[in-house]
Parts: sequence; C-alpha cells; structure tokens
Amino acid sequence: MRLILMGPPGAGKGTQAQFVADRFGVPAISTGDIFRANVSQGTALGLAAQRYMDSGEYVPDEITNKMVRIRIDEADAESGFLLDGYPRTLAQVDELDDMVASSGHRLDAVVVLTVDPEEIVARLLQRAQVEGRPDDTEDVIRRRQEVYAEQTEPLIEVYRTRGILIEVDGMGEVDDVTSRIFAALDVVQQS
Ligand code: ADP
Repeated sequence: MRLILMGPPGAGKGTQAQFVADRFGVPAISTGDIFRANVSQGTALGLAAQRYMDSGEYVPDEITNKMVRIRIDEADAESGFLLDGYPRTLAQVDELDDMVASSGHRLDAVVVLTVDPEEIVARLLQRAQVEGRPDDTEDVIRRRQEVYAEQTEPLIEVYRTRGILIEVDGMGEVDDVTSRIFAALDVVQQS
C-alpha cells in the first residue's frame, strides 16, 4: 500500500500514522519528524529547516522534496509507505507522482482527517505543555493553520478528482478515529 495521510496541524496525523503503518506493514514517513530529528542533531538539513518550522512556514519544496526522495528510496519503503505530512504543496504532489511512477507503482489512497479548527488550537496548546514543541505557541499554531488552508487544502480536490480521496472524521476518541481509517482502507486494500 502507498498511502498519504493528510489533515490540518493537530489533526492527529502522527498518532494515526503509526497505527495505520503497523496494520499495513509499511513504514510511516513523517516529514515533520525527520525535520525535527535533523534540528536536534544539528545537521545542515536541520539548520536549513529550523527557521521555517519555528515560524510555522513550510520548508522550501526543494529541500523537502530531496529529503523525501532519499527516504522513499530506502529498502523498507520498497513495498509501500505511509506518508505523514507530505505532500503539502502542489509542487510536492508533482514530485511525489514522479517518484511513485518511476518505481512503477501508483498511490493507493489519500486519507484526510477532518477536524474542527478551534478544537485543534486547544489540543495543540495542550501538546505544547506536554511535548514542548517550539512551534506550538498560539500565534505559530494559527499561522500553521493559515498556511495549511492556503497551500495544502487545494490538494484535497486534486486527489478527489483522481478518485483516491478518503475523508475520515478525525474528531472524537483516538481509537474511534483509527477504526474509521482502518475500515476505509480495508476496502481499498481488497479492491
Ligand atoms: P503539524 O502538526 O503542524 O502539521 P508537522 O510535525 O507535520 O506539524 O510539521 C512540522 C513543520 O515541519 C511544519 O510546520 C513545516 O515547517 C515542516 N514541514 C513538515 N512537512 C513539510 C512539508 N511536506 N513541506 C514543507 N514543510 C514541511
């Protein structure tokens, strides 16, 4: 399975990504996690990405695309993957299409978690207290939501047009959301 998990900041992508990846036996590839690991290790990639992340902006496509290309080429992603947080721009959609096509495959499904934006701000502020992520302040959260609306929401129509979009209600208990995603993806896997 080659899957994408989308949704606004704080929709619970990271949590669900791990469950979905385990169920379908593919690696969960989170661009946010890869960037954060690079920031904390002080790599050149981390240095390049940090100022964008801290202000809630997207890291430039050129940097992000290159990073994903390298990750997707690793052996564990050969038989499939779940992308969490990529693609987020139309240019990234094109780039991913190219990566997938050049390996002779296709995307199976794009799951979008739908959530209530106000609920999300509260969730993220709470996460800020637990995890201490520097981009979980209220101003930066709101900026991340704006950037998502401007640059990433348009991708939903792109994938809907292709007939691979699955919208899942992301509100409520974590387990319930997971069950909804599994139910939808089981249908895809059987088809
Ligand atoms: P969120 O929960 O806000 O969606 P992530 O952990 O997925 O957070 O990403 C954190 C930050 O990493 C983003 O705000 C952005 O700066 C950067 N980032 C992650 N994925 C991408 C991407 N596909 N393109 C550009 N920037 C990205």
